[in-house]
Amino acid sequence: MSEKVFIFDTTLRDGEQSPGASMNTAEKMRLATQLEKLGVDVLEAGFPAASEGDFEAVAKIAGKLKKVEVAALARTSKKDIDRAWNAIRHAAKPRIHTFIATSDIHMDYKLNMTRDEVIKTAVETVKYARSLTDNVEFSAEDGSRSDRDFLCRVFDAAIEAGAKTINLPDTVGYAIPEEFGDLVKYVIAHTPNLKNAILSVHCHNDLGLATANTIAAISAGARQAEVTINGIGERAGNTSLEEIVMGLYTRSNYLPVSTNIKTEHIYPTSRLVSMITGIIVQPNKAIVGANAFAHEAGIHQDGMLKNPMTYEIMKPETIGLSKSKLVLGKHSGRHALRSHLKEMGYDLSDEELQLIFSKFKELADKKKHVVDEDLEVLVTEGILRTSDVFCLEYLHVTCGTTVLPMASVKLTINGRSVQGADYGNGPIDAAFNSIAKLIGTESELLRFSVSALTGGTDAQGEVTVRLQENGLIALGRGADPDIITASAKAYINGLNRLEYLKTHPVEATEGL
Ligand SMILES: [Zn+2]
Repeated sequence: MSEKVFIFDTTLRDGEQSPGASMNTAEKMRLATQLEKLGVDVLEAGFPAASEGDFEAVAKIAGKLKKVEVAALARTSKKDIDRAWNAIRHAAKPRIHTFIATSDIHMDYKLNMTRDEVIKTAVETVKYARSLTDNVEFSAEDGSRSDRDFLCRVFDAAIEAGAKTINLPDTVGYAIPEEFGDLVKYVIAHTPNLKNAILSVHCHNDLGLATANTIAAISAGARQAEVTINGIGERAGNTSLEEIVMGLYTRSNYLPVSTNIKTEHIYPTSRLVSMITGIIVQPNKAIVGANAFAHEAGIHQDGMLKNPMTYEIMKPETIGLSKSKLVLGKHSGRHALRSHLKEMGYDLSDEELQLIFSKFKELADKKKHVVDEDLEVLVTEGILRTSDVFCLEYLHVTCGTTVLPMASVKLTINGRSVQGADYGNGPIDAAFNSIAKLIGTESELLRFSVSALTGGTDAQGEVTVRLQENGLIALGRGADPDIITASAKAYINGLNRLEYLKTHPVEATEGL
């Protein structure tokens, strides 16, 4: 029997710290449901004291998920703990996750506290959290740059006070694998109370070492890994879930540990995160990048044909990258659509199904094979974004070699219809100008990129945009068989996210 490594997913909390990655509550709910299906042990749903929006999303997720532990982050103050607890108290398995910095530089310049004061605060907070639930996690922010013996003292005291999980973060992504593994061994050897708690690690990828550091820590005895899907997170991101899980899975001959992750859901989850957040996965990204399983060199192909294992250390099917992806066509009925969506994780009401079914028929008329990615788009755009302020009603564009490109657009703004038209130096420019004028946005378009959702010339075009307004950054994403419509959808999605950020002010952005 191999030992278990618990997977703590923080895509919804730390991952959401990626610039522009803010998600609405419906999107968070969808992602949370998918993460539960993937088999994560703990799902950190947010930081309820940070904003009203975070509180609301955490409470909704906690109320719905039954199998997974739902964690909420809190600083070491009674107010934060109360806020976290109020958000997760109805969860089947709630966990309060509290943190305080333990490095000299953070204690001196950020907290203005002495070492003894930090220990006292940690102990009081863990005890208070423990009075609410017996599932408390304590993190030492900037742990990797903390004095080793002090770190062990804090951990010992936090466990004594009731913490069940102790987390050692490399908050600033500074550690080197061998050094980090040594630190984990040291902590295990010098924290007697750790025999009654699980040691966790939480790494950042500033030096590209998050996965290596996490593996080194597991090898040294850590038994929980804090990770995000696609490694998203602030700056260079967090340790990526898929790399840790597949690393442990593929090299179980070297490291005799295992996880509860159902690996065949890795790829669909990665796609979903990218679709919801608008953060594209780089093609050469390990495990889930578009090229990760593409063996193009001739010599490789010859060997591959004779035996795939000559060059392939993992099978694409293991992560859910199936070869035949055809799912539904023009003649598929409502029942087939419902059961397929259910398999994908969408339990739609009759009304929602009706809406998606008519959109599906429309799409199947334009596109012979409708695949999972297409359905995901229909649901993301048709249902998860219904709380949007701005919605596209219609778009009509004229362009060509002899006319000045012009777009006429009809939108709803909070349910009220508006329409207008404008010119541009191309059809997309014309569409954006019309939309911008109707909405009256002052945002600046920082990035615009187009790709194809799947292979084939009838694939839907996928557009992502990055917008900025008054220091706020939002990503937008849209897909459609028509690239100009996809662009308009992406732009409107970005504007909706900016609107969300403006109306949901963030009161705290701390983390670990
Ligand atoms: Zn972090």
